[in-house]
Amino acid sequence: MKTIFFKFLIKIGIFNIFRRVLQKDRLTVLFYHSPKSCLFNEHIKLFKRYYNLIQREDLLSAIREKDNSVLPPYSIYITFDDGHVSNKELFKVLKNEEVDAEIFVCPGLIDTKRAFWFKKFHGKEKNMLKSGIWKNSEYHMFSKGFDYKKDYDQLSSLTLKQIKEAPLNVNFSGHSMFHPMLTGIDKERLNKEIKDCYDYLKNNVNQESYFFAYPDGRFDSKVRRIVKKNGFEAAFSTKYGFIDMTKDDVFSLKRIGIYDDASSEKALLQACGLWSVLESLFKWLKRLFTSFR
Ligand SMILES: [Zn+2]
Repeated sequence: MKTIFFKFLIKIGIFNIFRRVLQKDRLTVLFYHSPKSCLFNEHIKLFKRYYNLIQREDLLSAIREKDNSVLPPYSIYITFDDGHVSNKELFKVLKNEEVDAEIFVCPGLIDTKRAFWFKKFHGKEKNMLKSGIWKNSEYHMFSKGFDYKKDYDQLSSLTLKQIKEAPLNVNFSGHSMFHPMLTGIDKERLNKEIKDCYDYLKNNVNQESYFFAYPDGRFDSKVRRIVKKNGFEAAFSTKYGFIDMTKDDVFSLKRIGIYDDASSEKALLQACGLWSVLESLFKWLKRLFTSFR
């Protein structure tokens, strides 16, 4: 039912209006976490009908020249946060479809069985851990039996071997060592989280440059400054929007999140910005409906 409605929105041209107004001359950077490869393949096939999936070197030129005009119209670049071990299943799709992508990894978990803390906590507790002083959050996690340096049963992160064997169009960049909330940690640890991450990439991943994605999209001027100081070329947030390189700060680039389990039509509506409008509309209608009851 929902898919029919999404297809209808695409067919009658509302999608196209959003695409033209918001995306023609701006860069859209999408972010995923760990989508299933067959579904992701369907997303790519549909994106290709409406967008130009750009190469990393073009993205780099646009960042360095602070100019969107070096990019084709309707440009999209694909990113993945965290470097989940399941991302290895996507390598084949990215290679076959000849789509460049960036995976933001946490080197503190690579080649270990350490777990991402945010996979062990949920709901309100997880939200509480994200805010405030990180040391207190870690203390809470520790009291609940979670240790970010302990090995668990399964691999959470891609291994270095997998990273090294990835196709050339799959690129790797930084997401901090252990994925703490960078705005809540002290300066010394902040510097270590970012510097060690950069050094790991530099020593292990042969690339011209590295980008950074702030864990959970959280950053402030101090975090931004340290990311820049340590050699990263640009940084991505999770702030919603489309990029105009002539105006936007390259250390707080906006991105659009795509649900890992979205149908390809839903992914398309998310990518063009229409989804967020629909979501706000539905919330408003729901509030209106409950206030009349
Ligand atoms: Zn993350």
